[in-house]
Amino acid sequence: MAEQTKYVLDEADLPARWYNVVPDLPEPPPPPLHPGTREPVGPDDLAPLFPQALIAQEVTAERYVDIPEEVLEVYRLWRPSPLFRARRLEKALGTPARIYYKYEGVSPVGSHKPNTAVPQAFYNAQEGVARLTTETGAGQWGSALAFACAQFGLECEVWQVRASYDQKPYRKLMMETFGATVHPSPSDLTESGRAILAAHPDSTGSLGIAISEAVEQAAQDPDTRYALGSVLNHVLLHQTIIGEEALKQFELAGDTPDVLVGCTGGGSNFGGLAFPFLREKLAGRMDPVIRAVEPAACPSLTRGKYAYDFGDTAGLTPLLKMHTLGHEFIPDPIHAGGLRYHGMSPLISHIYELGLIEAIAVGQQECFAAGVRFARSEGIIPAPEPTHALAACIQEALRCKETGEEKAILTALCGHAHLDLPAYGAYLAGDMVDNELSAATLEASLATLP
Ligand SMILES: *Cc1c(COP(=O)(O)O)cnc(C)c1O
Repeated sequence: MAEQTKYVLDEADLPARWYNVVPDLPEPPPPPLHPGTREPVGPDDLAPLFPQALIAQEVTAERYVDIPEEVLEVYRLWRPSPLFRARRLEKALGTPARIYYKYEGVSPVGSHKPNTAVPQAFYNAQEGVARLTTETGAGQWGSALAFACAQFGLECEVWQVRASYDQKPYRKLMMETFGATVHPSPSDLTESGRAILAAHPDSTGSLGIAISEAVEQAAQDPDTRYALGSVLNHVLLHQTIIGEEALKQFELAGDTPDVLVGCTGGGSNFGGLAFPFLREKLAGRMDPVIRAVEPAACPSLTRGKYAYDFGDTAGLTPLLKMHTLGHEFIPDPIHAGGLRYHGMSPLISHIYELGLIEAIAVGQQECFAAGVRFARSEGIIPAPEPTHALAACIQEALRCKETGEEKAILTALCGHAHLDLPAYGAYLAGDMVDNELSAATLEASLATLP
């Protein structure tokens, strides 16, 4: 029989539940705190920003949450997503390792982000919300929410980090085609934006600033709520559809992963892939090493401090216990816009502290080299973010080549680069530099922790 390249599930095999890892952990993650009182936030504190259903999911103790039929119907536009065996990459590397990637670039916007955008839009619409605000960096999240809002008849207003607004006109056009309104951030539409512009008129923005603007806008209007594309528990919950499908696909392949690697910006594609496998690991049914990969220019897990910090730059959000570089940290304008966030999902941070996962940081030149190598073998040009995971995949596969170990390596190829090709242009022209974060910059930034 011919060697199988991809493992595809029938629509009937689409998982009907998301998985919540919290009840399976040896201890629960520390709660978010009110910045004024430093007491745990309650549902009332979050009600101006999120619908009740999502607040409930944020703190649920249930191991599984049923996916509403209306959400499954939209998921079926592209799910189940394929699991590929990267046979051509294996051959090109000359490795005895088996490399698998779960491809999320088949979604309408080209990444994993619609997995959570769709349920977030659904629950807001169900509770009578008229409009959602959000931020976007690379533009993947903004386009995912714009698409999801179009599905459920919501208005969508997006603050796009200035640097990416200027560099990526196609993402803006995509959001507008789906019906969203897009502002560059910092903007003069919010107090947070005006304060930044007064201090730094040429600011190219950051995710933290854009979050402040979107949160401020939502908090002021009773018909408007805010949506976050990563970091929070309910976002990671929705993304577990990736790992649940991958588990079934590994059964089809008759294989078990020895190593899982994923890129981490706020942690959602990584958690989404890894948590169902972590459940299996904690239950003793498999024992994969699980490794997060972050950019050397924005290394929250490997060099940040595990402390309470704000999720945004202006300090409007609750305090989150997470690995952080400091909420005022502005990362160098590296090409993986989706990984330029100062903090990390509190759940991923907690699991890292428990020693259940590992983390490494990789410079962007190595990442783009991996992206090009992957594109030339597998035919998919990876988004700049998952090139970090691929670089770690290749590191592991080359170690296997040296030792002769036949490990199975699994990664999430969480997006394609069709609207990020200028980054590849910079790499191919030799114009890409590695912006390692200096110890002095990091220290100054951590000094601003609340
Ligand atoms: C948003 C994004 C990321 C970073 O977010 P996570 O929550 O860490 O997944 C990574 N890759 C792609 C393609 C993205 O769109």
